[in-house]
Amino acid sequence: MRILKFGGTSVGNYERINSVIEIVTGFIKRKERLVVVCSAFSGITDLLATTAKKAALNDDSYLNSFKEIKSLHLYTLRKLIPGKQGNEANEKLKLFLGNLQDLLTGISSLNELTLQSLDLVMSFGEYLSCFIISETFKTRGIECELLDARAVIKTNNNFGNAKVNFELSYNLIKKYFSTHRKLQIATGFISSTEGGESTTLGRGGSDYTASILGAALDAVEIEIWTDVDGIMTADPRKVQDAYSLKAVTYEEAMEMSHFGAKVIYPPTMLPALQKKIKIRIKNTFNPSFKGTVILEREKQIKFNMKGVSSIDDIHLLQVEGSGLISIEGISSRIFDALVKAKVNVMLITQGSSGHTICIAVIPSKSVIAKKAIEDELKFEILGKQIKRVEIIENLSLLAVVGEDMLETPGIFGKVFSALGRNGISVMAIAQGSSQLNISLVIKKSALKKALNVLHEALFLSHQKTLNLFIIGPGKIGSNFLKYIEKQNRHMFSEMSIRLKLVGVGDSKRMLFAEEGIPLKDWEKIIETSGIKMNIKTFINIMQSLNLANSIFLDCTAGQKIIPFYKDILSSAISIVTPNKLANSGSYEQYIYLKTIAKKFGVDFRYSANVGVGLPTIDVLDNLKDSGDEIYGIEGLFSSTLNYILQEL
Ligand code: ASP
Ligand code: MG
Repeated sequence: MRILKFGGTSVGNYERINSVIEIVTGFIKRKERLVVVCSAFSGITDLLATTAKKAALNDDSYLNSFKEIKSLHLYTLRKLIPGKQGNEANEKLKLFLGNLQDLLTGISSLNELTLQSLDLVMSFGEYLSCFIISETFKTRGIECELLDARAVIKTNNNFGNAKVNFELSYNLIKKYFSTHRKLQIATGFISSTEGGESTTLGRGGSDYTASILGAALDAVEIEIWTDVDGIMTADPRKVQDAYSLKAVTYEEAMEMSHFGAKVIYPPTMLPALQKKIKIRIKNTFNPSFKGTVILEREKQIKFNMKGVSSIDDIHLLQVEGSGLISIEGISSRIFDALVKAKVNVMLITQGSSGHTICIAVIPSKSVIAKKAIEDELKFEILGKQIKRVEIIENLSLLAVVGEDMLETPGIFGKVFSALGRNGISVMAIAQGSSQLNISLVIKKSALKKALNVLHEALFLSHQKTLNLFIIGPGKIGSNFLKYIEKQNRHMFSEMSIRLKLVGVGDSKRMLFAEEGIPLKDWEKIIETSGIKMNIKTFINIMQSLNLANSIFLDCTAGQKIIPFYKDILSSAISIVTPNKLANSGSYEQYIYLKTIAKKFGVDFRYSANVGVGLPTIDVLDNLKDSGDEIYGIEGLFSSTLNYILQEL
């Protein structure tokens, strides 16, 4: 037995459903026994919920939303089963939609929407989609039956997020399947109480249905068909170099889906884990992708880093004051207060000095959480033993996930030095209780950069992308660009360095492209799509792009850009320049720039200031570093004379 589960986008429209049928037919040809679990069509669960809410609020536009739901399902059925052949199914579908309409009318006249009736409304999503899909299968000659999972998955009456009674459900599932030998098209997400009231398994719960069925039937594998290439090392919308993982453990998958990578509903892992059934995440949009397998940890296999992921928006609550150490039981009072206020805590840290406790929560809960803590500590605050709770906004939570991570030496070092080198400060750190993750709180504005920096440091440690910004591609600059165009491949293959030109500006125009400007054609592109050059704007854009390993090349000869050097270096951007002016002014300014560069961990390189093509400064530095003493320097350092001699 194999379970195949198709999510909302995989059954998003009739064309997608046709691909699903193709995939399933492939398995049937191999004579495998299957269960197909489907979600509601994409967006329908949300639409059902808002329609019901509108109906309860006496907002008559609920009727329009209902019509939208109705026509979408009728249209999809017509497209899948055209002509007379579809008439019977069409009539049945209209009947079901009629039931939904009656239910909504009821909600509207009662002006009330309980969690119980919301579950009943939402259950139509999966029921309708599975009805349409099973009817389509039948007309394409594939014998099958619609399995309303409410008949076999039994839960408590915690509507909206019901808890499964596994023993009862497993028995019912086994019994059902012992007498139903045909291919079953089972509704995801929905279940029922022992008394038969509809419940749901939590949003995204169709994955869970697949796992429950798989565990009950001792399936060989549970395949979750979604719209991305499995579980990746990072979110590809934020990290260009992210790649798909071949395998992760159940625990890692749970940890990663908790942190933003919404590929699979976390509870899904449990039933599969108990029966040691592999879960494979596949992509309906790319069926040839082999999938990420979620499996049990095997002792002899060394596991390593699996991913960097994030929760993009969080707030940090800071509780501060000497009272935190001197008053007994204060931390537990804080947490009790948060539990009572139903605030989920995402990260906690307390320094060893004990003066502050930081608590990360989702933004919508920060005010409630602040109030709950302040109410609990009213007297301590009045007595000035504890300050008022401060909320820090615009933060993100970042997690590095992987088994064995904490036993692998050097990971912490890599993480913090990579962030430090790129000017990203960490506001709070916690080691996940599971020992599977390190969590960090950073400013939201640095999130994308931080994800890229960590991804590069941990997953692509052998390769590095340098992001280049150049102003003044006159003779030197344009020759430099020609040079790197020629050397790019060599640098990548021999040194694993990839140079990406992200910004370029001449005296008239400037041009930016985060994905890189083609080195061959930058002159043509800047002509057609460049914007008006302005040094300040150029530097602002470069800073706000906030890319990892940024290098600014000042290829101008004048004074104009020098006053910005300090600002550029302080944004953790290295400077490389043949421009002599910054270094031939006062000695204080020269030392000052070097100090700033050091402070922010970036480079300030000016080798071409002296001797131009002749490597002078680096050679002298090396000699000094290896203990040589320099008594004197003789040479011909005039580039004009050098040029004449070279021509001669
Ligand atoms: N249709 C449900 C939802 O949107 C369940 C699922 O798709 O997994 O949450
Ligand atoms: Mg899903």
